[in-house]
This record gives sequence, C-alpha cells and structure tokens, in this order.
Amino acid sequence: MEYIGANPIQPNLDNGRRTQYQENRRAPLGSVIRCAHCGRAFRKKESTSQFCSNRGERSCKNQYWSAHEKSN
Ligand SMILES: [Zn+2]
Repeated sequence: MEYIGANPIQPNLDNGRRTQYQENRRAPLGSVIRCAHCGRAFRKKESTSQFCSNRGERSCKNQYWSAHEKSN
C-alpha cells in the first residue's frame, strides 16, 4: 500500500510542550489537562490556565516562560 502526498503524522518532540500549551488553551473549562511545563494532570478552572501552578518564582508558569526566554 502506498500513500502519495500524505505525510504521516509524527509526534514532534521538540514542540511537545508548545503543543500541550495549545491543547490546554483549547480545552474547555472543567476538563482535565496536563501542565505544559511538568506534565502533571489537573483540572482546568480558568480559561487562561495552562500550568498547574501560576504564582511565584518557582511556579510552572514562570519556569516555562523563563526557560523559553533564555533559550537563545
Ligand atoms: Zn506544572
């Protein structure tokens, strides 16, 4: 069997966290999502929540963004 012009969907490991972030943004309130930084499952309570912890220097939100900003 041959597939022409169809790219098999490969998991993109480099963009895994970013993909999780996007999925969390799309997920409806009350659904269980995974933290875009550490992968811990938690229930989405606010439309803006993408991380299991959002406050403080050591929160996943802070670590996620600081890691991305320092990457270059
Ligand atoms: Zn987390």
